[in-house]
Amino acid sequence: MPLAIRDTYTYRVPDGMKDPQPGMRVLVPLGTKQLTGIVLREHTEPVPEQIKLRDVVALLDDVPAVNGSQLKLWQWIADYYMCPIGDVMAAALPARVYDKAYSFSPVKKRRVRLPEYIGEIEDIHRLSDEQLRAKEEIQRAWQTRETVLLHGVTASGKTEVYMHLIQEQLDAGKQVLYLVPEIALTTQLTDRLQRVFGDRVVVYHSRVSDGLRAEIYRQQLNPQPRLIVGARSAVLLPFDGLGLIIVDEEHETSYKQQEPAPRYHARSAAIMLARQQGAKVLLGTATPAVETYYNALTGKYGLVSMTHRYADVELPRVELIDLERQYHRKEMYGHFSDPLVDKIRQVLKDGKQVILFQNRRGYAPQLQCTQCGQPPRCVQCDVPLTYHRGANELRCHYCGYTRPIPPVCPECGGELKVRGFGTERVEDEVAQFFPEARVLRMDLDTTRQKTAYQDIIDRFSRHECDILIGTQMVTKGLHFDDVALVAVLNADHLMNQPDFRAYERTFQMLSQVAGRAGRKGKQGEVVIQTFRKDSPVLRDVLHHNYESLYQDQIAERELFHYPPFYRIIELTLRHRCEAPVADAAALLQQRLRSVFGDRVSGVVVPSIARVQNNHIRLVRLRIEANANIARAKQMVREQMEYVLARHKSTQIIADVDPQ
Ligand code: ADP
Ligand code: ZN
Repeated sequence: MPLAIRDTYTYRVPDGMKDPQPGMRVLVPLGTKQLTGIVLREHTEPVPEQIKLRDVVALLDDVPAVNGSQLKLWQWIADYYMCPIGDVMAAALPARVYDKAYSFSPVKKRRVRLPEYIGEIEDIHRLSDEQLRAKEEIQRAWQTRETVLLHGVTASGKTEVYMHLIQEQLDAGKQVLYLVPEIALTTQLTDRLQRVFGDRVVVYHSRVSDGLRAEIYRQQLNPQPRLIVGARSAVLLPFDGLGLIIVDEEHETSYKQQEPAPRYHARSAAIMLARQQGAKVLLGTATPAVETYYNALTGKYGLVSMTHRYADVELPRVELIDLERQYHRKEMYGHFSDPLVDKIRQVLKDGKQVILFQNRRGYAPQLQCTQCGQPPRCVQCDVPLTYHRGANELRCHYCGYTRPIPPVCPECGGELKVRGFGTERVEDEVAQFFPEARVLRMDLDTTRQKTAYQDIIDRFSRHECDILIGTQMVTKGLHFDDVALVAVLNADHLMNQPDFRAYERTFQMLSQVAGRAGRKGKQGEVVIQTFRKDSPVLRDVLHHNYESLYQDQIAERELFHYPPFYRIIELTLRHRCEAPVADAAALLQQRLRSVFGDRVSGVVVPSIARVQNNHIRLVRLRIEANANIARAKQMVREQMEYVLARHKSTQIIADVDPQ
């Protein structure tokens, strides 16, 4: 049942009812209610006398609503991500399917139909030599491996390579699943796919109405050669005869579901699904996740590269601006340095467009040295410490280490200051310094409405505005022909995130955002402002050097016991009151230590220690990647249950491979 309960339930099939097959929907009693459930398996062991089973009320299907491959994938997700299978079911089935009146069998007239494509069909582009070579290498690699990484610089034309591979699958009567991060599901991509593949394209994501989702789900139970383009949850649809899964921008964190359970990673789920279906997987990106690149270099995945942009457009010219020097000489307008102001004025004069990137995620307040730009770091975890105003101390979000605020920077003796500013502030300053420019802002606040994101992109592409100010949302595979300059107002917020992936993310975001500059025929320009101009990650961005970034990161990961060498399991405890959650966390930490030793962190008090009236504590485990992870999880589960039995009103949530 679609409930966050631990166990599945067993019911009796009453006399006279047809035998329910695995995957069929049944109506069953639970307490005083009746609920729609899915038959998982037939119970064959004898049931003890004293247990009185309740009867199935009704069998709702004559064909399974969930196929065998789905049930296997659900079970894998539940086991791997340590959640009840009911949570996976809730994420997989469109709400309408729980309605006992809903029917999967042919009905004369359905109220919801898939939209028909009425535009003109366009031919697929011919591949360039490099694209053709990449396509052939991918296919050769698939002969010996299931998964291949296509590492192609921004605008190398990865999408065109995908389309040729898709066409071959559809021609062979196979299905294709094309996964993209939710935010990248723009009409820029779907229009292009529909112009080439017409009605065979089906778009599936959270903004599609539930009726349409149910109809897509129903049609997938009887699969035809189709291209499903979707966000994360599309991996949970029924498939049969799947030939290929493409995971575009595979490094994107939005592939991992955060809240609620199942906290699954769509890339991992896609690889499992492909295995069940005998399909191949293509992971595509300009900036691979460190874990993915490691798998490619160690031979688990195939590796194919494209190093040139399509039509030999040059990669953008990147320039770093030293904020320390600029502030020192008082050559700043608000957060804009003199040289940046000059460049923006020039671009506006030429009738071109500007993208201003300001990451706002940095609301975990931090101290930063005004001299060397470094935040104070944890001695054990190598992540920046977070500033807690209340307790007036610095804390590590990984291990729980705390220290008093140092009077000066521990690295260089410079003065420490609290830092952080957001997109709204930038908008005010733009209005002040470039009053003639037409400005749009794109961030979580301006894109709450369903179509707002698409509207902003459309208006910017039609050049109805000159400057686009945005958070990481503006980094996703979009093409704007008139963008001559991309400016990053402060790269330090990215670098100083209290996260062991901070440098990797910085490289990914800056490379992606730089990729928006100068697409059609002309080299674009990128300006990055920073207090840390000597930082290796910025040097790598400057030279478009992913290899170097990777080598630095993988060495750190090994040294500090992070993935891919260790797996992280994060346990979050929640309770309305602080004392009980602190007690439960201390007990859990102590119990886990007795089993896992120093693989267990201290109790971590997060910087936002109270969310929706719940007090939060964290305990993290790092387990060697080559250990028996299933057994480790079983031992974690036992300790969680031990604690829950003594702290009944505390909630404990497991997050496996947190992002
Ligand atoms: P990527 O996904 O690698 O960032 P895209 O596939 O979006 O790159 O391609 C970048 C641009 O180059 C797009 O505007 C695309 O239409 C164009 N392009 C790429 N390959 C071809 C091709 N073979 N023929 C014509 N145009 C192409
Ligand atoms: Zn630490």
